[in-house]
Amino acid sequence: MAPAPSWPLALRQGVALANFTSWKVGGAAEWLAEPGNQAELVALAAWAQAQAMPLRCIGAGSNLLIADAGLAGLTLCNRRLQGSSLDASTGLVEAEAGEPIPTLARKAARLGLSGLEWAVGIPGTVGGAVVMNAGAQGGCTAEWLKSVRLVDPTRPEAPFDLPAEALEFAYRHSRLQAEAWIVLSARFQLEAGHDPAAITARTSANLHSRTSTQPYQQPSCGSVFRNPEPHKAGQLIEALGLKGLQIGQAQVSPIHANFIVNTGQATAADISALIEEVQRRVMTGRGIALHPEVKRLGFGPGG
Ligand SMILES: Cc1cc2nc3c(=O)[nH]c(=O)nc-3n(C[C@H](O)[C@H](O)[C@H](O)COP(=O)(O)OP(=O)(O)OC[C@H]3O[C@@H](n4cnc5c(N)ncnc54)[C@H](O)[C@@H]3O)c2cc1C
Repeated sequence: MAPAPSWPLALRQGVALANFTSWKVGGAAEWLAEPGNQAELVALAAWAQAQAMPLRCIGAGSNLLIADAGLAGLTLCNRRLQGSSLDASTGLVEAEAGEPIPTLARKAARLGLSGLEWAVGIPGTVGGAVVMNAGAQGGCTAEWLKSVRLVDPTRPEAPFDLPAEALEFAYRHSRLQAEAWIVLSARFQLEAGHDPAAITARTSANLHSRTSTQPYQQPSCGSVFRNPEPHKAGQLIEALGLKGLQIGQAQVSPIHANFIVNTGQATAADISALIEEVQRRVMTGRGIALHPEVKRLGFGPGG
């Protein structure tokens, strides 16, 4: 067992990660920390590096399936790393990685900054949105991102900046999904000079249209599968009559077929088995491979 660091870094052992994911499943983190500022995050990364232990970073856990066996090493949860500055005259916005993206969208709307109206219904952090290139209703993170501040866990003492162009953004994809780098903060260039009431109204309408068509009241991770263009994953699954399909307490949502909901006490194994069953049936029924958008942690090599 690795010794705790000599100065207080709010490290905890054996913490249930189910409380850190929107699906409400997942085993325990061997070590867990929620850094309150960037210096603390860097110190924690250095500690994990010195112990040669695996390090993972999570945001709001709204796109994560964490294995029932939990995660070895240190899990850094960024949800306390919050704060942002927004310049109403230039549209330049800087936000810490743990800032909830809906909070940032609402702040921008109030200042008449246009660009993030689509983000209000995405229950993740700024860091998670950058890594996932989160998007909805015609908008996505990559369109408005200017640069990111990153830390490489193997050289935590030297944070560095990368421009958005270096991140290889595509549909729900960024280069950061294949790198071990941690997002510390992000800079966005929004459009200044809009009517705050109009932007706020658009933001609220976007939220309403999502909460009225998606199962927001039950634990989920949003859309499970990427859309296999030109198809919509939800339509393929629904057309095969799979709404309501259940394994254990994981269920294909009767409201939106691309959502898998936890009806109570689902395990990660239930959800994982249901994902595979839906993939199998769509492949058998339509000859189309569905690829999960959700990130799996603790499922073995690469997962
Ligand atoms: C009800 C619901 C609706 C949703 N709707 C949408 C939608 O419309 N569009 C959409 O794109 N997504 C949607 N999602 C999925 C999810 O909210 C997004 O993918 C979001 O961007 C994930 O952010 P997060 O902070 O929760 O990241 P997490 O789920 O915590 O992590 C996602 C990935 O990013 C990595 N990561 C997170 N933070 C950092 C960081 N600071 N540094 C390095 N790596 C990091 C994690 O290791 C993981 O690989 C929805 C989810 C739910 C529950």
